[in-house]
Amino acid sequence: MPLPVSIVAALLPLSLPAPPEAGPREPPLPPATTFEWPCDDYRRGLRGAGNFGVKVGERSGAPFAGTWHLAEDVWLPGGTEVRAAANGRVRYADFSPTWTDDAGRKHWNLGHVVVIEHALSPPDGDRTHVCSVYVHLAAGLRVSAGDVVRRGAPIGAVGADRSEENGEYPAHLHFGLHVGPYFQLAPSWRRELARDALEVGLPASDRGPTMRLVRSPVAEVTLRDRTTAEVRLEDGTVSVMSTLVGSTSPGHRPADIVHWCRGYGDRETVDEWLRPSEWIERRRRAFDDRVRATTPAPPPAPSAPGAGRGSGSRRS
Ligand SMILES: [Zn+2]
Repeated sequence: MPLPVSIVAALLPLSLPAPPEAGPREPPLPPATTFEWPCDDYRRGLRGAGNFGVKVGERSGAPFAGTWHLAEDVWLPGGTEVRAAANGRVRYADFSPTWTDDAGRKHWNLGHVVVIEHALSPPDGDRTHVCSVYVHLAAGLRVSAGDVVRRGAPIGAVGADRSEENGEYPAHLHFGLHVGPYFQLAPSWRRELARDALEVGLPASDRGPTMRLVRSPVAEVTLRDRTTAEVRLEDGTVSVMSTLVGSTSPGHRPADIVHWCRGYGDRETVDEWLRPSEWIERRRRAFDDRVRATTPAPPPAPSAPGAGRGSGSRRS
């Protein structure tokens, strides 16, 4: 019986070197106060509701049929500039091509992808971080993993229509906001792991030529370091799995990317994501309210009609 996708995906990158651990010398991360649209004409590009949380029809024939769309699709022409939605640190910038295997099966990937992690200041309730995700970009990304970026900094462009560079999709930006820091054990990953473990058993050892399979539900999954998780089974077996996934194309080395970073998921997974157009507006209004509340009222000036509210307020 073939291993479920989540387990294969979690296992695949184990042979890869882990990304370098961030040391204490990382440049300071500017906190993200307000967010802005990642491109001009964002709202027009949504063509209505932007597909967030929409279920892909079972009859679409797509490999992700029956799952839910986790981001907003922004339908704008190839070449449209894409910018950082807020201050943050680039955690991922790489290519993941769509490719066809010898049996003629198509493996859909994401084209060029950027993920930026944002530390929120102030936090949004109990949310301290979000990650903005930009998918189906053109070749020639303008940032690299590790870069610290400012809100509005150009990071790339929408990939050309149905091109190799964008993963062969119609030209659009898939823009998502995932709750939490980049390195995390997303609830969806835990659920998927537990479900699949019940189905076929988990590899108990990744060493040597043989792989022992055990049939036991997952008892506990904990993040061991940034990119590996310790999986403790109910029978006491412990194994270590990577939380990274990436391109499976033989022509392109798998790009390390954290397991949550996918375009589609089950209904519950939608809750890990924010509806970008709504959340960005809400955060902007909250910022404006704070500015108004802390700005002293100007002295009465009857000779200055038309003085509007602080449109020049600074955002950082
Ligand atoms: Zn999409």
